Amino acid sequence: MTPPILLVRLRSGVVGESRRVVHVVPCPDVPRIPDVLVAYCGAEIRAGVAELLPRPCGMPCTACLISAPLPASAPVPAGD
Ligand SMILES: [Zn+2]
Repeated sequence: MTPPILLVRLRSGVVGESRRVVHVVPCPDVPRIPDVLVAYCGAEIRAGVAELLPRPCGMPCTACLISAPLPASAPVPAGD
């Protein structure tokens, strides 16, 4: 089963717009979000300078997309 993930982006004004990519972060198995999240690409993202996104949007972090686990795929039914 694919582990749950968070979609995290640095807030506007923290970095330039070209660096505000959407990172993929493994959802921590703790009751509250820790002060520092580590994305699949290795980026350390501090609380207070980032926003959690409710759904995919914006420019994705390519390194995160390459490193994040793929979701389980369902078999495609055979066509007749
Ligand atoms: Zn990333």
